[in-house]
Amino acid sequence: MLTQRFGLRYVASGDVLRAARASGTELGNTVKSYLDAGELVPDEVTIQLLLEEIMKDTSGVGVILDGFPRTLAQAKALDQALAERQQRIDVVIELTAPLDVLVERVTGRLICRAAGHIYHERTRPPRVAGKCDIDGSKLYRREDDYPEAIRRRLAIWAEQNEQLVLYYGVESAFFRVDANRAPEVVQSDLAKILIESGLRTVTKEAS
Ligand code: AMP
Repeated sequence: MLTQRFGLRYVASGDVLRAARASGTELGNTVKSYLDAGELVPDEVTIQLLLEEIMKDTSGVGVILDGFPRTLAQAKALDQALAERQQRIDVVIELTAPLDVLVERVTGRLICRAAGHIYHERTRPPRVAGKCDIDGSKLYRREDDYPEAIRRRLAIWAEQNEQLVLYYGVESAFFRVDANRAPEVVQSDLAKILIESGLRTVTKEAS
């Protein structure tokens, strides 16, 4: 929703790392074991892959980052790389929701093979079981969406998050948004923050 409304590029660290896993390279094999266990991929590898992806953007189009940085070392590496290009982070937003809500969302998550459209088996099921409403492609579950790996991911989040909040609370415009509400309501709050931070919308109805 936000990428369309603001004409931004979306870069999710999980997507970048899963693409590396699928590449069949030695690096891909290293990444695989961490991803499948719900462990953080080591900073060195993550920083290299993500900065490469983020810096592809040379056309002046802004980027929404999802899932990166997740550690202090990653945050500092990103800031340094941006500063070298006279670029910076405009806004940092923490989306919050109770842990049981997160577990419920992730355990029911279904993703379409063709374009990554997301469904939920209980709260947002597809019209035809196992098929994407939009492009008809097959729906699958992520390999790390099983209870043990989910718990591990959430435990790691709890360990890392405080440091990041402290860092960005000082370094950037930092906001916290309650994500335990309908997607349209969350999106509207996020859009307000982006507009107040000086970003322009590109679609008519939002301006
Ligand atoms: P996500 O798609 O954001 O849930 O991330 C899925 C998995 O990718 C995580 O459990 C980690 O194994 C890995 N991952 C994603 N982002 C990062 C990051 N910034 N640093 C290290 N590992 C990451």
